[in-house]
Amino acid sequence: MPLVEAQGLEKTYQAGEIEIKAIRGVDFSIEPASFVAFIGPSGSGKSTLLNMIGCLDPPTGGTLTVAGKDVTDLSRREAARFRGEHIGFIFQDFNLIPVLTVFENVEYPLVMVQDWPKRKRREKVQKLLQAVGVSDQSNKYPGQISGGQKQRVAIARALVTGAKLVLADEPTANLDRKTAKRIIELMQGMRTEFGTTFIFSTHDPRVVENVETVFTLEDGRLQEEENHG
Ligand code: ADP
Ligand code: ADP
Repeated sequence: MPLVEAQGLEKTYQAGEIEIKAIRGVDFSIEPASFVAFIGPSGSGKSTLLNMIGCLDPPTGGTLTVAGKDVTDLSRREAARFRGEHIGFIFQDFNLIPVLTVFENVEYPLVMVQDWPKRKRREKVQKLLQAVGVSDQSNKYPGQISGGQKQRVAIARALVTGAKLVLADEPTANLDRKTAKRIIELMQGMRTEFGTTFIFSTHDPRVVENVETVFTLEDGRLQEEENHG
């Protein structure tokens, strides 16, 4: 069964009198444990599509299934709950909470969303910090670590709830070449170790050349699907 499946998916924004058709009927299917990128020019609909897959914004037409659940018509509350259980997010500006330590940033989803007992939480956080290679930075604050380290922490946070789907919006945009390469390799490693699916929105050729499937968006429509091995 696919992890994400879209059929005739549409999103129209209403801006006063004007309708903006951001996604105009797209079909695609993404298997578990895959590494996929959506590319396309600015305004082509990448963020809109990722926001729908992430249950942040509902479709206005068609159907969308994520992790076996039809998420087309979720209420706000159901969507929030579903995200907390199934979806991790990674952003280009890392989005760590500056007043929390590295450890607390990764622990946050387990406290806020899943309400795990303290001891189980600590073990899980430590395991993830180790997996992404920043366990020695646990007590530092985001302002005290490098960009590459921040993105490692963000990856740990995205995975800590056991989410099998991670949506990554330009995750390497603010990293230098060498660090970006290591971060892509790290995500590849997490995919192999945990069976996580990563869906990227990106312009970065280094990301594109490392994914299996590239979907190209143009004016809200999907162009060719390109498969690399
Ligand atoms: P991309 O991520 O590829 O740059 P977007 O998904 O952000 O593309 O935008 C697709 C289209 O939808 C654009 O025409 C954009 O102006 C429009 N759009 C995006 N978000 C909104 C919104 N909240 N309200 C109205 N129009 C929007
Ligand atoms: P990585 O990809 O392993 O995170 P980086 O190239 O980002 O590596 O950083 C290499 C080392 O330099 C790190 O171990 C970090 O301690 C240090 N470093 C780099 N930039 C900063 C910064 N802005 N603040 C603190 N330490 C930094």
